[in-house]
Amino acid sequence: MDADVIVAGAGPTGLMLACELALAGARPLVLERRAEPQRDSRALTLHPRSLELLDQRGLLDRFLPLGRTVPGWHFAQLPTRLDFSALDSRHGHTLFIAQARTEALLAERAHELGAEVRYGHEVTALGQDGEGVDVRVRGPRGVEAALRARYAVGCDGGRSRVREAAGIGFPGTDETLTGVLGDVAVIDDDPAVLDAARARGVLVAPLEGGVTRLVMVDPERMRVPSREPVTLEEFRASLVRICGSDCGVAEPRWLSRFGNATRLAEAYRSGRVLLAGDAAHIHFPAAGQGLNTGLQDAMNLGWKLAAAVHGWAPPGLLDTYHSERRPIGRAVTENTEVQTLLAELSLVPRYRRPGAALRALFDELLRMEEVNRELAARVSGLGTSYPPTAPGADPLAGRRMPDIGAAAADTGAARVHALLAGGGFVHLDLAGGAGSEEVSTGWGPRVTAAVTKEGGHPDLEGVKEVLVRPDGHIAWATRTADAAARRGERRTALAGWAGTPS
Ligand SMILES: Cc1cc2nc3c(=O)[nH]c(=O)nc-3n(C[C@H](O)[C@H](O)[C@H](O)COP(=O)(O)OP(=O)(O)OC[C@H]3O[C@@H](n4cnc5c(N)ncnc54)[C@H](O)[C@@H]3O)c2cc1C
Repeated sequence: MDADVIVAGAGPTGLMLACELALAGARPLVLERRAEPQRDSRALTLHPRSLELLDQRGLLDRFLPLGRTVPGWHFAQLPTRLDFSALDSRHGHTLFIAQARTEALLAERAHELGAEVRYGHEVTALGQDGEGVDVRVRGPRGVEAALRARYAVGCDGGRSRVREAAGIGFPGTDETLTGVLGDVAVIDDDPAVLDAARARGVLVAPLEGGVTRLVMVDPERMRVPSREPVTLEEFRASLVRICGSDCGVAEPRWLSRFGNATRLAEAYRSGRVLLAGDAAHIHFPAAGQGLNTGLQDAMNLGWKLAAAVHGWAPPGLLDTYHSERRPIGRAVTENTEVQTLLAELSLVPRYRRPGAALRALFDELLRMEEVNRELAARVSGLGTSYPPTAPGADPLAGRRMPDIGAAAADTGAARVHALLAGGGFVHLDLAGGAGSEEVSTGWGPRVTAAVTKEGGHPDLEGVKEVLVRPDGHIAWATRTADAAARRGERRTALAGWAGTPS
């Protein structure tokens, strides 16, 4: 075997997955078609759940200084903002950071953990048998080679070669609407001009190095196919049409057109081949969710795949990647379709008036605390919860573990999320000494035994023990007061999630 897992694509999803696999002791090999790392940045956001995940791996401090925190975000570009700070998280904000920066930081981390990333290596074909996956690769000089690994993951974007080679369908709809983006070095410095553009629905955002990004959907150009290049003349003309001025834009660094093609992979797993990120789901970049969803896919998949590689994965664990993440992919594709429709209706002459009224109504709804919190939970990723796998499970099973104070032997960490930095499970004892020793001796380095005296979190009222998965979701929780009964439950939960005792 050339690697435990071959990862096709060194975008954010592939790099995050490489970090997760390497952290868990598996040997990933990342193959990237591009000759070198990406310089242009499509995405600019890391939403709260992604920030939590980075925090859980001790990486957030690398990202924060390179970005800018933004307290809330938009839904369908409506004036009332989603209030992320109202959600239960230490990270109630978006981090505005260029995708190229995110990729560079993840590549740095992957390298530190010993993962190999080969640029200029394109996956061209793939086949699998009961023991592994054969991957054909075209190298930098066009020479084809064959590699073999136990598993392969397609993180190779919307046109995924891996998905196609694995015969996984990608049903959905072709693009019907496109928008344009421009990163420009020169722009009018009169704030009133840019405020006027914003008021007309143009997204205006400062990037690094004095560059400004503008993003818009021009009703007169929104049916132009995304494959058609954007010229500066077209970009200026669209600005004039939308906001009455070309905003003085000049010296474009990057002009690009993108569309609302929306597709979801039929399966996230076919035998030893899996899909993550844009290879599994594509949609309009409404509210900036694609990269975030890809990172969260990788976080869900990494530890499960490593468990399969190491041979301790309980039966069915790897299949939960599909059953947990595909519904999330569907929910994201659907909310982006809703947002796109809300924007499009007000741009089409036939629906301009009712479309504007619909937007006004949605905006009014967003001012209601409960509605705002629900949509904020969805877009931020903090609302993500997985269905419980065991019948009669505690209602907490599958939900995010709140970041309460906790301590474990041999670590300086003082809160649960920090205890996840090593990439293992955390068993949290809230009942005073129950079971820690058994967890430590039986499940060794796979599970960290921790204690907390901190009740107080409303979700944890009456809870005696919690088993937290490596991705920060709750595997099992119990409120059983009887210590002997709890012991039985605990053993079943540990074996069901963390495998037989080592
Ligand atoms: C205009 C725009 C703005 C966006 N803004 C945001 C935002 O603010 N927030 C957000 O979350 N998302 C945003 N997105 C979406 C986001 O950019 C993508 O969801 C994200 O890049 C997906 O990451 P990925 O790693 O899954 O795929 P990609 O970034 O597409 O990476 C795939 C990688 O695989 C490589 N590859 C392809 N084929 C092969 C092959 N055969 N062999 C080897 N390598 C291969 C590619 O070269 C590429 O490097 C935006 C998208 C657009 C178009």
